Amino acid sequence: MKFGGNAVASIDRIRYIARDIIARYREDTTLTDGSSINQIVVVVSAIKGVTDDLIQVCDSIVRGESSKVDSIVHSIGERYKKIASGLCSNASYTDELSSIIEEMIREMSDLLKGMMLLNEVTPRSRDYLLSFGERFMAPILCYALKDIGIEAKYLTGKDAGIVTDSNYGDARPLMDTTRLRVRHVIIPMLEQGVLPVVTGFIGADQHGNITTLGRGGSDYTATIIASCIDADGIMLWTDVDGLMTADPKIVKDAQVLREVSYAEAMEMALFGAKYLHPRALEPVLDKGIPIRIRNVFNTGCQGTTILKNPTAYHNKIVKAVTAIRNVSLIDVRGSSMVGAPGTAGRIFNVLGENRINIIMISQGPSESSISMVVRKSDLDKAVNALELNLLGRLIKSINVTDDAAIIAVVGSGMRGTKGVAARVFNAVADRGINVIMIAQGSSELNLAFVVEDRYAEDAVRALHDEFDLDAINQ
Ligand code: ASP
Ligand code: MG
Repeated sequence: MKFGGNAVASIDRIRYIARDIIARYREDTTLTDGSSINQIVVVVSAIKGVTDDLIQVCDSIVRGESSKVDSIVHSIGERYKKIASGLCSNASYTDELSSIIEEMIREMSDLLKGMMLLNEVTPRSRDYLLSFGERFMAPILCYALKDIGIEAKYLTGKDAGIVTDSNYGDARPLMDTTRLRVRHVIIPMLEQGVLPVVTGFIGADQHGNITTLGRGGSDYTATIIASCIDADGIMLWTDVDGLMTADPKIVKDAQVLREVSYAEAMEMALFGAKYLHPRALEPVLDKGIPIRIRNVFNTGCQGTTILKNPTAYHNKIVKAVTAIRNVSLIDVRGSSMVGAPGTAGRIFNVLGENRINIIMISQGPSESSISMVVRKSDLDKAVNALELNLLGRLIKSINVTDDAAIIAVVGSGMRGTKGVAARVFNAVADRGINVIMIAQGSSELNLAFVVEDRYAEDAVRALHDEFDLDAINQ
């Protein structure tokens, strides 16, 4: 079970999770053969907003804003201290937990002193600092469990055995080593009836330096551990009901999807209500371990199950419509691009070297233009790089649409179904919306197109209507 940052944001919530979710599921013998408790590993995120605050601290260190650093760090420390002192009813647990937290705050302050002295944030020191958000939470949730009589033990991702490469900020687990170590650490604990509480988001490289797995990485920690120990299932406890047919802020009768496939989840999770780490599904794909997204604030809702072969909705063509806002379209043209091998390579290289991520690509067979979508915040940098390196040579002109949105229609039922594109584009055309660019991969899992951003919400509603997604659960 993994708990997201909003689910652990107060003493009441932490107690609730310990008692009404973890303890209850542990004892719910209807889930197994009825003979013993369920073995659960808990993975916990930082309190919502703390990772963002720590990132801000890094920015302030570089700018030399020491008073800002102090005030953010002070308020983070106070927040955790307050939770530590008020959480347990057992006084000796309160003392133990408080001193664990005090010690961690000291470690964090020492690290910050070093970083401030140098006015420098390296990828390595940044990951070390960011790790504290999760590192404070693991002992806290652990003591909440002890306080209600569950034998629990807290571990960092490193203690749990997650070994990664040294790509700080976006590290990848070395799965073979990780599997051996995680099994070695976690399985004996489970066999002895001890409940491990592991920090999400962090691991360590082969030299023992703390690494982070990328934003939203706690989900990833959960799937890594689940895969290593061959778990029966994963529950991602969060603050939304699950994956939905559309963003409920745009479509008021958007529905929670009961089941989706791994492939569909990857298409929709990035931009839906529940952000899933892009690689979080990777560790469980082969083993087919089902993942359930559940809402801690609405346990009556069964949420969404992500699995290999869903049986629900087998006759549905489309399952979700998503909009990716705040993107821009760049269209490059030039007759020297025609029939010249390596053209796309050179363009993408220039963007790649400038660390610009391309979200969507399209080129027609005339080869005289290539269209790309990038995040709006990357637009300046992208146009600059193309201008400096290629304009006047390979490229004749660069055209830009600043405020664009990608609309993506997702569903494995589109594969091999005729007429989907016709329905999509007719529905959009009926609302007077112009389509600027189109892309569909040959997997046919999604059909994506670009519109001006002011039409984004209309387009999503039009498609939600067209495919009757409001009635998908009936
Ligand atoms: N705390 C980390 C983040 O905010 C990891 C997570 O929440 O999953 O990105
Ligand atoms: Mg999170």
